[in-house]
Amino acid sequence: MENIANSTILDARDVCCGFEKAQGELKVLDGVNLTLKEGEIVGLLGRSGSGKSTLLRIIAGLIPATDGEVNYCGRPVDGPVEGVAMVFQTFALFPWLTVLENVEAGLEALGVPAQARRERALKAIDLIGLDGFESAYPRELSGGMRQRVGFARALVVNPTLMLMDEPFSALDVLTAETLRTDLLDLWNEGGLPIKSILIVTHNIEEAVFMCDRILLLSSNPGRVISEVTVPFAHPRNRLDPAFRQFVDDI
Ligand code: ADP
Ligand code: MG
Repeated sequence: MENIANSTILDARDVCCGFEKAQGELKVLDGVNLTLKEGEIVGLLGRSGSGKSTLLRIIAGLIPATDGEVNYCGRPVDGPVEGVAMVFQTFALFPWLTVLENVEAGLEALGVPAQARRERALKAIDLIGLDGFESAYPRELSGGMRQRVGFARALVVNPTLMLMDEPFSALDVLTAETLRTDLLDLWNEGGLPIKSILIVTHNIEEAVFMCDRILLLSSNPGRVISEVTVPFAHPRNRLDPAFRQFVDDI
């Protein structure tokens, strides 16, 4: 295997995207460039409607770019990619499936046999702190627990790249804080298969707390107009343990 240290996980070049509207083409993205290296958490900020979700969908291979190219681990993306998982703002769970079934659903499309699906799903559920909730339905869970199911469903495919579209913004502040910190603890401990995270957020504090780099997307049309490297050696570890404890105790 090639030397993965410092290797490029994602490379997007001159990505453009437009949508047909009654009044003509709406150009949403116009020449977006970004690169993610192994070990990086990169934040994507931009106003509502600037095309952040569209960009994530293109990177995940869910919709095509109208121009430009996206390479994942050196290969062009031209459809859904194994190794890339997405977490959504509103969780996007199947309400008629249990927690276990929701997490397993992430593996069905990959053709993983039933027995292996179950084992992997149970592992992901345990990892993300949902042990004991396997047979609960989404409606029986709090927002934070639902998003944990969203995380488990993403993690179960053993992704190399995790795309997160405002994953904490539907949660109250304290729940968001707990989930964010739990995710980062797993990341820092090396407990995740993920090698790189691209996270869309509206919360600048969250971006500084979580990210190594922050990209700013302009509006009408969207283009990366600014890039900031977060100027701390270990920003993700800077939370006072006493504060952590306080949050955990609530
Ligand atoms: P953001 O996530 O930054 O808020 P989006 O990527 O959701 O922005 O949307 C950017 C623009 O593209 C918006 O004007 C939205 O209405 C439009 N748009 C997004 N998806 C579609 C679609 N499938 N068809 C038509 N227009 C779309
Ligand atoms: Mg969006």
